[in-house]
Amino acid sequence: MRIAIGQIMHETNTMFGPPTPVEEFQRQGWDIGQEILDEDTGVRTYLGGMIDAGERHRVEIIPTFSANAHPSGTIEREAFDTMLSTLLDGIRNAGELDAVCVALHGAGSAEGIDDIEGTTLRAIRDLVGPDLPIIATLDLHCHSTDLMLESATALLTVHEYPHVDSYERGYEAVELAVRTVTGTVKPVTHLTRLPMAIAPITSFHGPARKVNERCWEWEEKGLVDVTFVHGYPHTDVPIISASVIAVADSDPDLARQATEDVANMIWEMREEFRTELPQPAEAIADALEHDGQPVVIAEVSDNPGGGSPGSGTHLLRAMIDAGLESATFGFVYDPETAEQAHDAGVGATIEVHIGGKIDPNNLGEAIKAKAYVKAITDGKHITTSPMGQGSERNLGKMARLVINGIDVIIGSESHQTIDTGPFLLHGVDVTRYKVVGLKSQNHFRAGFEPIASKIIRTDPPGWTTSNLKQLGYQRIARPIWPLDDGVER
Ligand SMILES: [Zn+2]
Repeated sequence: MRIAIGQIMHETNTMFGPPTPVEEFQRQGWDIGQEILDEDTGVRTYLGGMIDAGERHRVEIIPTFSANAHPSGTIEREAFDTMLSTLLDGIRNAGELDAVCVALHGAGSAEGIDDIEGTTLRAIRDLVGPDLPIIATLDLHCHSTDLMLESATALLTVHEYPHVDSYERGYEAVELAVRTVTGTVKPVTHLTRLPMAIAPITSFHGPARKVNERCWEWEEKGLVDVTFVHGYPHTDVPIISASVIAVADSDPDLARQATEDVANMIWEMREEFRTELPQPAEAIADALEHDGQPVVIAEVSDNPGGGSPGSGTHLLRAMIDAGLESATFGFVYDPETAEQAHDAGVGATIEVHIGGKIDPNNLGEAIKAKAYVKAITDGKHITTSPMGQGSERNLGKMARLVINGIDVIIGSESHQTIDTGPFLLHGVDVTRYKVVGLKSQNHFRAGFEPIASKIIRTDPPGWTTSNLKQLGYQRIARPIWPLDDGVER
């Protein structure tokens, strides 16, 4: 059996930031053919799962094309056209195929195309014809659209946030393709959408966990997959929603029953998804009252994992203002300051302006301070979080500065902190600090929950605020909960 695999992965925040050109994908993640196997074999990613499942089931995996960039502004049209045509060329040149498996995000938008995944799946369908199985994996922060549903044979979305199960979804995609080709399963998919914009919330605890448990009860009744799709609210396209996707084996009624039941549950408990988080000063006061360390404070509103640059200064400024005696922050995206530290060298004391270079009205003014350069590195390390474990990470030139006794790490790539890697690289053992500041919504939990005594999320102004009413939506479909009153489904 021969299965082509490929990937186009981007979470697009259309509200902020400049358009994303093809060069960003080429710089961050652009693999053709064998390069995909070199990059993803043995790594806990969607493609890593697809490759291993191919090996396990003695399937010939034909790697086509993979493009991947961190969340950022609207993809330039030319960039998307290039990626799509490269993927289609890879599939076209793969020879006789039994199935296609693609890893997509589900919240990608290009200039003039709100739904790049629907467009991609439709183009693959047009290329391979109506009968070839196409299985797509998706991020749970996706916009699930009818075009995606109609064009693919089945959609498999990660269940967990942090996305610790992307490898498993990739693995299942190839397994489902094999079972579909051999006729042991006939996937039928149903989608139920809800008029809800859910601020990012973990599935490890709380209401999203309860909903997942209901999904798994349905899976135990024989469904292939039932997923609570949270949706992605930090963008402005009409297709934002929470939804439920179910894949059943030749039983459309069962798939529909499952999605309706889970969707009803989510709708009934929607108030539990309303998110109100403290400002930094309050979060720090909470941390100091807590008996135990480290207390991890996550600045969710400036999360590079959702398209905010990570250069905001609100939490770091509050930590400095609080005069903390045992604190570290990792990290602020500020290539200029990193460069300055590298030029000055270890042991130098320099005058820095941290942050304040991008949207200072919203993300905070620069922090002007004297900083001691404790360490400088190249920012390269291997991911240890269960999310993407084993993958290479390159945060560019980095520095550990000491500012008013706080160990502050500076990086040159806009990236959220998902594990202790950026700290350890600079000799910082976070367990020896009372307060550990970082920028991430929830993905950090996979790496930090095992070592944190307490976790606090803080939401000062920023591009990925959980206070969705602060975002100036123009295009999303209204009415939508919780932005409008009296929303009915
Ligand atoms: Zn996600």
